[in-house]
Amino acid sequence: MNAAVVRRTLLVGGVALLAVFPLVSGSLYYQNLLILTFLLAIGASGWNIMGGYAGYISLGNSAFVGLGAYTTGILAAKHGVSPFLGCLVGGLVCAVAAALLSLVTRRTRGMYFVIVTFAALQLLGTVATTWTSLTGGSKGLALPLPTWSLAHQDWPFYYSLLAVLVVTVAVSALVRRSKLGLGLFAIQDDEDKATGLGLRTAVYKMIAFVLGGTFVGVAGGIYAYYVTFLNTSAVFDIVTSMLIVLSALLGGRGTVWGPVLGAFIIEPLANLTTTNLGGADSGAIRLLLFGGLLGGVALFLPRGVLPTIATRWPGARRSTPEASPSTGTGTGRSDGAPVTALDRPRGDGRPNVLEVDHLVKSFGGLRAVDSVALTVAAGSITGLIGPNGSGKTTLFNLIDGTIGAQSGRIAVDQRHLERRGRPTRAHAGLARTYQLPRLFPSLTVIENIVLPERRFSLRRLFLKRVTPAERDRAMAVVDSLGLASYADTSPGDLSYGQRKLVELAQVLWLDPVLVMLDEPAAGISPALSQRLAGMIRSLHRQGVGILLVEHDLAFLSSLCQRVYVMSGGQIIANGTVAEVRADQHVVDAYLGDSVALNPAGAPA
Ligand code: ADP
Ligand code: MG
Repeated sequence: MNAAVVRRTLLVGGVALLAVFPLVSGSLYYQNLLILTFLLAIGASGWNIMGGYAGYISLGNSAFVGLGAYTTGILAAKHGVSPFLGCLVGGLVCAVAAALLSLVTRRTRGMYFVIVTFAALQLLGTVATTWTSLTGGSKGLALPLPTWSLAHQDWPFYYSLLAVLVVTVAVSALVRRSKLGLGLFAIQDDEDKATGLGLRTAVYKMIAFVLGGTFVGVAGGIYAYYVTFLNTSAVFDIVTSMLIVLSALLGGRGTVWGPVLGAFIIEPLANLTTTNLGGADSGAIRLLLFGGLLGGVALFLPRGVLPTIATRWPGARRSTPEASPSTGTGTGRSDGAPVTALDRPRGDGRPNVLEVDHLVKSFGGLRAVDSVALTVAAGSITGLIGPNGSGKTTLFNLIDGTIGAQSGRIAVDQRHLERRGRPTRAHAGLARTYQLPRLFPSLTVIENIVLPERRFSLRRLFLKRVTPAERDRAMAVVDSLGLASYADTSPGDLSYGQRKLVELAQVLWLDPVLVMLDEPAAGISPALSQRLAGMIRSLHRQGVGILLVEHDLAFLSSLCQRVYVMSGGQIIANGTVAEVRADQHVVDAYLGDSVALNPAGAPA
């Protein structure tokens, strides 16, 4: 049977079952268990948007439960606001808190992000405990008791949390399918590269964090009403954060349903340990159990339950309808056109597309780029050669903003960019490829190609990952590269040379005025190298300026009107290939280098 049908049936069946359960069972024990499970599932699904999609592991997410709970509790206890209204304010407070935390952690990654989020949780817990006039401190805070008839048991809690869970999962699914989700997965794979493609990753992460925190806050408010008594140490608790993370990891982080599945496994287990393992040792036993489980998941189910089942399911791997590689015959024209529909104004008679002046960068005592000046005329192909370690890649990194220059000026298309961030430089029309291609393994080849963002627009983030129009254009591109049958596979399935071609197609999606290519022909087959040269010529015809680092002089001299020679961080010569090859400084610079100047042969 079709995996999508199975999934849908399971889903609808599961939600229907949960919806009728309290009406038919009447067991308060199971109602309680499910209420806590919903809360954990909401927490894990919210966490997953940042932790699973973008790869930012937060250990502070129980703070959202706490903030939501206390906001609701304080409003109800001191101002008589109904908790079912108060919990919405709790969600709002969490949204603001998430945005603030996202600003604070804007520059932290990996382990540092984990630590900062954990610290934020501790800080909030401490503030809540010491601010006794507001929160009741360690004495606790009592909410008014529910007013509905006993016959209705805990139904209002149960159904409102079930509703919040459905909304959370729906939002998570929408995010995953949108450009926002695409960007988040790209951030997880290679955030630096993503910013170089024009993605304002800080905005992506902030939206992800806010969406992930808001619904947890609402759920925390409902939870506060349910337990009617709040205690700071129980609410701002690291164990809750651990259970949230564990649920997502166990079920399958990065999937929509994995965190929910994980919560439905973890919460009953946690409940079992609190009810059956009483006594002084229960805390230690819980720690052992969940610590062991976390270790076990990391060792034996690194991707979680759901993805593991999904890959074993026959026919489940390619379940998206567009995924059949039908369009295109894969003939692949060697001229590489049309690479992209170029709509920026271009052409001859325009000023230089790149002007670099007095650029300096030192690493410790080493002046890797030493007062470099260089220009690339509009619609020209300019070469850059030099022995290994002469500073070519560092110069690229300075121009595109990967690293900051100590001094100097950079203008792309007459816009001064030396103080601008990488997304702004990409939006200005600057594109670069890397010496070793860097594609996003979590995205398909087509998704890789359409990921770049020419300008920032909030609305665009909520479009489909790949719109039909984008897909058509991107299919034409992969077809022209002879890679149509790989359109919906991971770039990991491509050869090294094919990845280089796809990376070039990817950066061209920016509709650049200047493309910087770092050793594009190194290590690829002669046939692919020809195709690459074809793509470069075609770009040239369309008026794009090109700065090309290449060791292969034959390749270079067949393409370039002008080359710069770099050595020891400085430009030591420039002119035509023939001119610089005759220059004594250049010959001296290459002495003893493994890449000799001449054997590459005469111009092709
Ligand atoms: P090329 O691309 O011309 O081969 P690079 O720009 O990669 O040369 O390197 C120029 C010099 O700068 C080399 O000596 C290299 O070791 C040094 N270098 C490059 N990046 C760094 C870095 N991040 N930290 C310290 N030294 C670096
Ligand atoms: Mg290099």
